[in-house]
Amino acid sequence: MLCTHLHADHVGWNTRLEDGLWVPTFPNARYVFSRKDFEFFGRQTHEAHNREAYVDSVLPVVAAGLADIVDSNDCVHREIEDGIWLADAAGHSPGSVVVNAQRGGSRAVFTGDVVHHPIQLVRPDIPFFADENPAAACATRQRLLAQCVDNDAVLYPAHFPDPAAGRVRRAERHFSYGFL
Ligand SMILES: [Zn+2]
Repeated sequence: MLCTHLHADHVGWNTRLEDGLWVPTFPNARYVFSRKDFEFFGRQTHEAHNREAYVDSVLPVVAAGLADIVDSNDCVHREIEDGIWLADAAGHSPGSVVVNAQRGGSRAVFTGDVVHHPIQLVRPDIPFFADENPAAACATRQRLLAQCVDNDAVLYPAHFPDPAAGRVRRAERHFSYGFL
């Protein structure tokens, strides 16, 4: 289980309620969390809904011994040219990561919330209310979109309408998106 970040709407199925207790949904899996988000969302000062999700959907996984708390550029699985690895995408949250998956030269990038809406390809410079650090999030968004063009990667944004997958292209001012 790879969590791109630990906002409430991205951790919900980590656990389920069983006889009044939150237990890991996938007891045979390892769950990968970035260290920066694990520390950030663990602070009592964070917004209530994210704090509550952290308590019922992250901490029980750690208590069950199933969590791997890793650096933001952690390599999950790598073979020559191929593999699954994380890349730092700080801004939306301090420990936001994208998940890269590559086989046979084709790369998929699971972007979490680096991009929320296709309008952000036209204006990747516009701050977004849910970004914890809007300036850093804008810089990360522009960097990631340019990388996706250069690598001809297929993007899998978490909040685009289904089917969300698509390719980023350079457009006149910024970028455009071609849904697959
Ligand atoms: Zn988010």
